[in-house]
Formats: sequence, structure tokens, C-alpha cells
Amino acid sequence: MKKKIALLGSTGSIGRQTLDVVAQQKEKFEISVLTANQNIDLLTQQAIDFQPSTVIIADDSLYSRLKNRLSNFPNIKVRAGLKSLADIVKSPEIDIVLTAMVGFAGLKPTLNAIEAGKTIALANKETLVVAGDLISKKAKERNVAILPVDSEHSAIFQCLVGEEKSSVEKIILTASGGPFRKKLFEELKFVTKNEALNHPNWAMGNKITIDSATLMNKGLEVIEAKWLFDLQFHQISVVVHPQSIIHSLVQFCDSSIKAQMGFPDMRLPILYALSFPKRLKTNFLRFDFSNFSSLTFEKPDTKKFRCLEIAYECLKNGGNSACVMNAANEIAVQNFLQEKISFLEIPEIIEHTLLHVSFVQHPDLFDYQESDQIARQIASERIKQLLR
Ligand code: NDP
Repeated sequence: MKKKIALLGSTGSIGRQTLDVVAQQKEKFEISVLTANQNIDLLTQQAIDFQPSTVIIADDSLYSRLKNRLSNFPNIKVRAGLKSLADIVKSPEIDIVLTAMVGFAGLKPTLNAIEAGKTIALANKETLVVAGDLISKKAKERNVAILPVDSEHSAIFQCLVGEEKSSVEKIILTASGGPFRKKLFEELKFVTKNEALNHPNWAMGNKITIDSATLMNKGLEVIEAKWLFDLQFHQISVVVHPQSIIHSLVQFCDSSIKAQMGFPDMRLPILYALSFPKRLKTNFLRFDFSNFSSLTFEKPDTKKFRCLEIAYECLKNGGNSACVMNAANEIAVQNFLQEKISFLEIPEIIEHTLLHVSFVQHPDLFDYQESDQIARQIASERIKQLLR
């Protein structure tokens, strides 16, 4: 039986690589649903190539154009809008929902998919950052597996196979350090959008690439790891490993450390999440130790890259802190990409927003949605002040 996949965010970096994996494993997987925000050109082509039963464009003003383009394919239903996107995941034909949308927008569809009992292959880390307690509680109640797609979390997940949870002492997330690892703090004031988008090891979507440059991506991953693996913040550490060959490590109570390694290629963690608990044969490039004479490690510089420290603080504070941080970060990154604010203003805007949104100790879904909205407003106002 082929596994039927709903791929949310199929036109993005993870979405396209997922389709590449599916095309190579046609006898194992089938695409049921494809979704995008606005990129109807690519969505149309993907629909023609993969013949899903439904395609959804989140921006509903593009519905008629998409419908026209797929008019020769009556078996493909065309839908539009965020509500359709959030509802489609409940469809009985779907086995697994791969969440490759970017940002807070991934929260509602992920919650719906969990409520409908679907297995989740989670790339959209912001979902767990925003509402990790809610998501993990619901997943436990519904006995739903959340399988990580993020390479670091996939590495940890792979290291944990066959191990007892009680024997885990800590996990160590590796970080490439991003394009500005060697820059001085003073130099970070003047770095450009294009320099920030030039990641040394990974080709990814714009938002996560900027998050990697600020180390916010590692901060988001620390929080994601807390919820995925049910850990305390002091059990999650970060080490900079510029070659991105070791994808992360687990240290056990007997002092043993397990690492998962390989070339930086997201297709492997995507495939592992889709095929788990099996491993499938691939033609991906094999790692050759003789070509890598040294793998190096260093401590992250949290004075230079404040965002990682902010994420740890939000994790310690709990409540709606990480939700507020995430919203402010999304707004700040968007404005940095529009070249309205400087690189060092990103953490400044996040800290300002955290100070101005009321703390909620035990938020429900409504509180998260409200905190997200308020944080976005405050972050946007701060940016207007900075631009004056
Ligand atoms: P991209 O920006 O490349 O793609 C995002 C996808 O989501 C696109 O299909 C986009 O559609 C769609 N989308 C964007 N905004 C919305 C919205 N408001 N509503 C509905 N759909 C939307 O992102 P990535 O693929 O890089 O990242 C996706 C997620 O995976 C992120 O959470 C990221 O942190 C995580 N991740 C990514 C990795 C990577 O290597 N890229 C690695 C690990 C995790 P459209 O094309 O039409 O804009």
C-alpha cells in the first residue's frame, strides 16, 4: 500500500525536495494534496506531474487562474483560501501530512491534522515553537506520531531509535554558524540581505536562511527539540560545527555519545520521516571520510548572535513567550528581507516586542492567536519608529 501524502507548502524548498523524494520512490508514496501560497505557476506544474486529488492556493484571489490552468484535469479538485487548506488535512484518504509551510500559518492545519489522527512529518518548526505544549498534548491524546523533518531533529530521532528515554542525558544540536560566523559584532551592523542569504552549506527558503544567519534558527530548533523529545532546557545544548556533516548528537547517562552524519541534503530527513520506521534505499551521495580531514566544533557566540539567547530565555519563561518571539521574528525578518531594517535590528525588535506583550502563563489556542497578532502589531510599530 502506498502512503498518501498531503504536502503543505509544495512550492517551497522543502516542498520541492519532498516531491523529488516521492518521484524517486513512486512505488512507496503518492501525493494526495498539494498547496502553495501564491506560486500558481509551479503549483500547476506540480499538479500536472503528480496528479493529486486536490490542490489548494492559500491566496484566494488566485483561485480562477489556477482553476483555468487545470481545466484539462477534471480529476484534480481546485480549492483556495486558508480555511480550505486547514480543512483538507482531515480528508480520509490522507495517511501523512508533511507541513512545509513557513511560519505561524502552519499552526492551524497541523492542529487539524493531529485531531484527525494523521501522522505528521513536521518541517514547519514555527508550529512547535508557537504552541508546543498544545501540539504535544493533542498528539498524545490522539496517539499521533510527529516525525521530524528538520535535519537536526531527524538526527536526534535516528540516534534515539532503540534507546530508553530515561537514559538520555542531553542532546547536542549542531549549527553551521551561518555566513557571519567569522564577522566581528561591529561588522554585523552593515551586512546586507544578499550576504545574509548566502548560506555556506544549505540552500533553503529565504526566511529560514535569515534565521540561520541570526542563529534564531538554532533558537527555534532548541524550542522545537524540547517539545519533540520532551526535554528540559538544560538538556539541550548547541555546538557550532561549520562543515554541517554531523547533524546532531545525543549523550547518554553512561557518557556515550551517538551522532548522525552525512552530507547536508534535506532529502534524507524528508525520506526518513516518510518511510519511518523503515529505511529505503537511495542513490544519494555517500560520505567519504578520506575527503574530510577535519570536522571542527566551537561554542556559539551568543553575545554576537543574541537571538539564540533570546530563544533560551523564552523557553525558560514558558507561556506565550516563544509565540511572541516567533511573531516578532517573522515581522523583523520580513522587513530585513525588504531592506527596511538592519541585521542587528532583528534581535532588538524581538526584545522590544517581548517587553511589551502581556505574559500568559497557560495559553490556549485563542491566547496564542491573540499573542501572535499583538506581537506582530508591536513589532511593526517598533519598525515604524526605527524608520522615522
Ligand atoms: P519556503 O519559503 O521555501 O517555502 C514555503 C512554502 O510555504 C511555499 O510553498 C509557500 O508558497 C508556502 N507558504 C508561505 N506562506 C504561506 C501562507 N501564509 N499560507 C500558506 N502557504 C504559505 O520555505 P522552506 O521550504 O525553506 O521552509 C518551510 C518550513 O520548513 C519552515 O518552517 C522552515 O523553518 C522549515 N525547514 C526548512 C528547511 C529547509 O532546508 N528549507 C530545513 C528545516 C526546516 P509560495 O511558494 O506560493 O509562496
